[in-house]
Amino acid sequence: MTGQQQAGRIAVVTGAARGIGFATAQRLAADGVHVVLTDVDGHVEEAAAAISRDQGGRAEARRLDVRDEAACEALIAGLPRVDVMVNNAGIFDVKRTEDLTPEDFRRMYDINLVGMFVLARAAARRMSASGRIVNIASRAYLGAVDYAHYVASKAAVVGLTRALALELAPRGILVNAVAPGVIDTPILAAWSDEARARLASVQPVGRLGRPEDIANMVAFLASPTTDFITGQVILVDGGRSLGGLTG
Ligand code: NAP
Repeated sequence: MTGQQQAGRIAVVTGAARGIGFATAQRLAADGVHVVLTDVDGHVEEAAAAISRDQGGRAEARRLDVRDEAACEALIAGLPRVDVMVNNAGIFDVKRTEDLTPEDFRRMYDINLVGMFVLARAAARRMSASGRIVNIASRAYLGAVDYAHYVASKAAVVGLTRALALELAPRGILVNAVAPGVIDTPILAAWSDEARARLASVQPVGRLGRPEDIANMVAFLASPTTDFITGQVILVDGGRSLGGLTG
């Protein structure tokens, strides 16, 4: 996709101060899209300024907590147009089911799912044909141990994506999800170097994912020339979900 084909399009990316969201904003701006980086994290201003410097002003920052429905609505309503909505903001933590509380579930759902729904709804109202919504799920939606609240929230992201895709397809708005495997971002900050190396060694491709691996797929799905794919969950996980047979 050339910058010219994407010129004039506006994308909103949540959780864009760092990690996958930042890499996605960088990639979309490089493709010629004007990107609105949003995050609760104050570093979002620096992040947008860095992209803007490299990409001829094609980035701006807004502080946004995706749990704040009124702020989400106001942000979307205040933009001149919305062509691409990337729902990336998310949290993760590890807790065995016996220790999980309903409050843990509600917090996870409020950020990983409900905020996504509010922004997708607001963006869909503003989008014309060629609108694109890309939701960041996780390979964990297939099932994982010690974070049932996260797994459930990401499985719900998949359900939301499929439902929205069916509703919005007649208007030419396509909705897909990207399900990353283990991607080396600050979300893994608590992992030791040994743990990271061990994790890398069990990936079929022999390495952890990079934020750019996800950004590339998001940019593909966000492009107006990708116009026959909707309601899909694209696993970008170095082959980890294949399982693989030994012996
Ligand atoms: P990250 O480095 O932690 O970045 C997430 C960003 O979202 C942070 O800047 C965070 O701000 C922000 N955020 C948290 N709560 C928010 C809220 N209420 N409103 C707005 N922004 C909020 O994480 P990442 O690894 O890039 O992950 C991005 C997405 O990919 C998430 O949805 C995650 O579940 C998904 N994912 C990641 C991996 C992985 O291995 N990295 C794998 C599968 C799926 P703070 O600085 O305040 O926390």
